[in-house]
Amino acid sequence: MSKTLKLILGDQLNSNHSWFKTTDDFVTYILMEIRSETDYATHHIQKVVGFFAAMQAFSNELRAKNHQVMYIHLNDTSNLQSFEKNIQNLISKHNFTHFEYQFPDEYRVDLNLKKLCESLTITSSVVDSEHFFTTRKELGDFFEGKKIYLMESFYRAMRKKHNVMMHDDKPLTGQWNYDGDNRKKLPKDHKPTPPFVFNNDVSDIYNEIAKTNVKTIGTIDTTNFVWPINRVQSLQLLDFFAKECLQLFGSYQDAMTPNEWSLYHSRISFSMNVKMISPKEVIDRCIEEWCKRPNEIEFNQLEGFVRQIIGWREYMRGIYWNKMPEFATMNFFNNQEKLPDWFWTGKTKMNCMKDAINQSLEYAYAHHIQRLMITGNFALLAGIHPDEIDAWYLGIYIDAIEWVEITNTRGMSQFADGGIVGTKPYVSSASYIDKMSNYCGTCFYKKALKTGEKSCPFNSLYWNFYDRNEDKLAKNPRIGMMYNVWRKMKPDDKTAMLQQAEYYLKNINEL
Ligand code: FAD
Ligand code: SF4
Repeated sequence: MSKTLKLILGDQLNSNHSWFKTTDDFVTYILMEIRSETDYATHHIQKVVGFFAAMQAFSNELRAKNHQVMYIHLNDTSNLQSFEKNIQNLISKHNFTHFEYQFPDEYRVDLNLKKLCESLTITSSVVDSEHFFTTRKELGDFFEGKKIYLMESFYRAMRKKHNVMMHDDKPLTGQWNYDGDNRKKLPKDHKPTPPFVFNNDVSDIYNEIAKTNVKTIGTIDTTNFVWPINRVQSLQLLDFFAKECLQLFGSYQDAMTPNEWSLYHSRISFSMNVKMISPKEVIDRCIEEWCKRPNEIEFNQLEGFVRQIIGWREYMRGIYWNKMPEFATMNFFNNQEKLPDWFWTGKTKMNCMKDAINQSLEYAYAHHIQRLMITGNFALLAGIHPDEIDAWYLGIYIDAIEWVEITNTRGMSQFADGGIVGTKPYVSSASYIDKMSNYCGTCFYKKALKTGEKSCPFNSLYWNFYDRNEDKLAKNPRIGMMYNVWRKMKPDDKTAMLQQAEYYLKNINEL
């Protein structure tokens, strides 16, 4: 009888996996807290704590169901601090005769585990993680031979294939996409819905991390840790979203305000990315809520949410497996600058940036438009090297795992892939930020000024970006219009704006 060791990675906490359908005395599961994972990026302290807390809860859940589980803690003396070394050690110590793991979602880990299996003297196998709607290869097959990987066509195919909000092979309401209805600014008298948060005590885990020299960023309240750390809490958070936020999700999905850190967003990405909950469960729960309250929840709210998950999330995973490892080195604009120091402290006079960064340091969370149109927008306008930007995003967010971070950062936000994920760069001047938020009114900088001491940096940097990258962008049919505007500007105005941008770029740490 073979004695099997099965590896559960920190983002594979899926209680519904077929591995756990039956108990088996000849199978032992292993989870491990290791330095190779805490140290491959400078993570937010809440991210490290959140992963370890969820892993510990998951191992307890498995033990309670009579599975045999080994758990290596960060400071265990026998911990060799890498998957490969710990696995090899356990195999020889406990005489395992077979090793099995689930397909990792990260290229680096995938490669390491493949190499490990080649070096083992026992047999090994790999199984699906049973989480996503799609396989790793599916997007590549879907777009075979195509130059443009249009998310919308993939999304529609997903809806058809999985029969999501469909009727007789047609979209349920006759319309596929309601994005046009989903870009509202918050009304002046908007009353915040307090976010549903947890008060988990994670002091023990925090203290263990504090004993080491693991480098982290951000802050944490160790007795009131707000993030879900097990499946039950993940389901509670989802329930809160479906009942309290879904009805306004789409409308205010792009809105920003300094007074609310999560607005009508679900904050379910961490639970989903570590697989405490599946994307199917998430959309099924929301569709169920819409069916119960069709008069209160407009269809555009539901469709906007479902598209993020069955569309964007699956699409990004497909792009990752289709384009790695080349994707990780793409730098279409050849940007070379360093991130300003205040990205790590939030100490800037720019209100919008200050709020997005401080919130990220406090909660390890920012919603999509803060990531895309505030921090990402600024970084692209300032010509920051995509490696620097990736490292920041991969570290700071609790939901940041490379497959979904890099495709969003290097792809969607920085256009470093030259247009695989997006058809044009997501950049804007102050006018978009002002339209979607109420940051500008109280900012040190003036949104309407393009030059001068108090001119908003987004304005001059925006035109500087277009000017600098004309050879790469002017032929893009979605951008040509911007170059017509730029060319029609008075030469003196253009020169003044470029000089202003140059000044800001030279003094970027003072902004
Ligand atoms: P909601 O706004 O409530 O959306 C619901 C769900 O839809 C999310 O939980 C997420 O699973 C999915 N989703 C929405 N947009 C995207 C998207 N563009 N790509 C993939 N899934 C999406 N998401 C991560 O999970 N991890 C990351 O590291 C990450 N990095 C990002 C970096 C940048 C520069 C940008 C622009 C986006 C990034 N995103 C990332 C996507 C998105 O911002 C987050 O998924 C979302 O903000 C998570 O918060 P939420 O759960 O409240 O999302
Ligand atoms: Fe941001 Fe400029 Fe508005 Fe200030 S004025 S909040 S820097 S967009």
